[in-house]
Amino acid sequence: MGNKPPVKKIAIFGSTGSIGRQALDVIASHPDIFYPAVLTAQNNEDLLIMQALKFKPNIVVIGDEKKSNKVKQALATTDTKVYVGETALEEVAAMDCYDMMLAAIVGFAGLKPTLQAVESGKAIALANKETLVVAGDYVMKRAVENKVPIIPVDSEHSAIFQCLVGETRNKIEKVILTASGGPFLGRKPNFLVNVKRDHALQHPNWSMGAKISVDSATLMNKGLEMIEAKWLFNLRPDQIQVVIHPQSILHSFVQFEDGSIKAQMGLPDMKLPIQYALAFPYRIANRFPRYDYKKPNALTFEEPDIKTFRNLSLATEALNKGGNLPSVLNAANEIAVYAFLRNRIGFLDMTDLIERTMEKIPFIAQPSLEEYFDSDAEARNFAASLIKL
Ligand code: NAD
Ligand code: MG
Repeated sequence: MGNKPPVKKIAIFGSTGSIGRQALDVIASHPDIFYPAVLTAQNNEDLLIMQALKFKPNIVVIGDEKKSNKVKQALATTDTKVYVGETALEEVAAMDCYDMMLAAIVGFAGLKPTLQAVESGKAIALANKETLVVAGDYVMKRAVENKVPIIPVDSEHSAIFQCLVGETRNKIEKVILTASGGPFLGRKPNFLVNVKRDHALQHPNWSMGAKISVDSATLMNKGLEMIEAKWLFNLRPDQIQVVIHPQSILHSFVQFEDGSIKAQMGLPDMKLPIQYALAFPYRIANRFPRYDYKKPNALTFEEPDIKTFRNLSLATEALNKGGNLPSVLNAANEIAVYAFLRNRIGFLDMTDLIERTMEKIPFIAQPSLEEYFDSDAEARNFAASLIKL
């Protein structure tokens, strides 16, 4: 194996999002290594068109049918084919025109295309954590059966993955996921009750899409990441811990059986884990800013306040009980965040909505894939009925 990776054709599902745009920055810096063969977007057609004119993919998919004529017209004189609608995502995911899918759609909508890529034998760079939260056992089983690597993009899981390279024979005692604590670190319910959308979207360290920004503010993001870690690294729930690390420099750490701890460090910049996942097993040179350890900036760690940020407790319950509970948690959370972003419910109401939905939907210990989908739909309907969406 030389130092230069072979050319890889990447399908970016969700190319107009925060992860998708940063992935295209990475690709633009290494046109000799990566070619974005597929780009998809739900409704930001202007950005999709600009991306397509610049990167000349084989295929673009626009989800919203109302936007399709504009995309088709804009790309009529190019070699890029335009596909339209939700089912096109799965159709394109099954095609041979790419080697690796960057799964960067947000939420449950990312599950079906990602699963289709797994079934089609494509490597996965996984940003869409909801895929594993909803149906982690099924997705990982099919990935093993299809010999498909799933390389995490989420910074914490990328850190753990990097710590585990070369450690296949060695047992993990536990993994510790770091959390920045989000914009409301140290705040109490009397403050949180009045928090509005714009404040919740102001993350101190990371610039991200709206849904994950709210999830970071409620700590649900860390809860989803605990479940993601369980499936990615085949861990028991009691092996997964969370620590607040407000500086976001240590991106997570692994403690092995001998007590030794390995961590991965760097500035909070998603381009690094994105590039690592796209290029794995290679590391490629880049000009990203470097962490300056000589600056006086203490790295600190503290326990999460789970009494205030109860979403983390609900997610831990879903992690421990398993079955369809994580998919119910995820669906209710998607509805809650959607409603909060539209100022329909308050910050703390999100937790109540999720809790009531988890109590309501019947528990299934070992769901089939269909039952995961059914649980998602039932939970969504019930949660939406509580706020009359
Ligand atoms: P985003 O909202 O910025 O972008 C989402 C992308 O998905 C867009 O391209 C959008 O067009 C597409 N999309 C949205 N709804 C869709 C639907 N129903 N069908 C098809 N496509 C749809 O989100 P993001 O912040 O880039 O996050 C993407 C995923 O990556 C999420 O699962 C998130 O948890 C994960 N992630 C993001 C970050 C980050 O820094 N942004 C970090 C770690 C993990
Ligand atoms: Mg993360």
